[in-house]
Amino acid sequence: MIISSKDIDEQKASEKKVSKAISDLELMVEKDENVNLRPNSLTGYIGQEKVIRQLKLIIDSAKIRNTMPEHILFYGQPGLGKTTLAYLVSSEIGATLKTIAAPALQKTGDIVSLLVNMEGNSVLFIDEIHRLKAPLEETLYTAMEDGSIDIVMGKGNGLSVGKIDLNPFILVGATTQLGRISKPLKDRFPTIFQLEPYSESEILALFDRNLDILKIKMSDEAKILVCRRCRGVPRIANNIIKRFVDLQTVHNIKEITLKHAQDFLLELGIYELGLTKSDLQYLRSLMYSSLSLKTLGGILMEDLETLEIVTEPYLIHLGFIDKGSEGRRLTPKGREFIEKFDKKRNAGLL
Ligand code: ADP
Repeated sequence: MIISSKDIDEQKASEKKVSKAISDLELMVEKDENVNLRPNSLTGYIGQEKVIRQLKLIIDSAKIRNTMPEHILFYGQPGLGKTTLAYLVSSEIGATLKTIAAPALQKTGDIVSLLVNMEGNSVLFIDEIHRLKAPLEETLYTAMEDGSIDIVMGKGNGLSVGKIDLNPFILVGATTQLGRISKPLKDRFPTIFQLEPYSESEILALFDRNLDILKIKMSDEAKILVCRRCRGVPRIANNIIKRFVDLQTVHNIKEITLKHAQDFLLELGIYELGLTKSDLQYLRSLMYSSLSLKTLGGILMEDLETLEIVTEPYLIHLGFIDKGSEGRRLTPKGREFIEKFDKKRNAGLL
């Protein structure tokens, strides 16, 4: 990728904007109430065993060879731990971490500025990397392969081509949509890790750990009920725990019982299997005919990407819907579930 002098000018203009975006992001992370709930070592990481084993191997081998590990791409639905793993990779190799979400990078100058200002031994974490614009992505190619970027300086006869050598870094990318990453970019990641939803026992283990950290007491039956409603996603588990912290604090509850948990989950609109009002509405919309994603988006007033990456994968995983040529369709299992659910609801049992 050749960067022109215009790009370099743009780079200066956008430098401020990018460093603001980075500091905003860092601020968000620092302010994130979950920060102390993030596991602080790969060894203490619950779940994703295969990924953790592979990551340790890559990191240990790089340490022995006294080099940096190669670029890494994580993909999986939101809240499964991609950002957490980027933090852990960076701390395991003693690197400086720079994090940015791809939409904050608008011009080639933005990415150039990020790369040239990187300290040695850094991890650059780009979240939502599938949203990176094509010209910016191309700048990353030589950066990832040769650790340099090409630039064109000056104009007309005074035109000269140069190369900027970057400080050693590794790129860690995260995406919820692997299919939207171009092949050339994907091919430049020697390791791509898919994160899967956590099993019930893994969610229970991380739930227990976080209840301990937050000093919340909950009966075993209540814990099991709540964990079954987390959809195998740590972020959902943590968000629910935080709501229980509020409940316990305000009502001065010593131990959260099954009854507290049942009532409170209903109040939060988190139903059986962790389904929400919007999931139930989605299922009801398909009762009488198949519908396209666009029509569903209109009925539910939800953006299509959220439906595609959050709502539908879970409903498909449960075997409640499938996607066919005629659109989204309710399966017999999905129909049975929603009919039974609404019956109980109408009888005042929910
Ligand atoms: P993603 O980047 O995939 O959206 P994050 O890494 O931001 O997900 O994780 C979401 C939340 O879940 C974070 O607050 C983090 O503390 C928590 N979390 C993720 N994975 C784990 C895990 N294995 N053990 C404990 N907490 C986790």
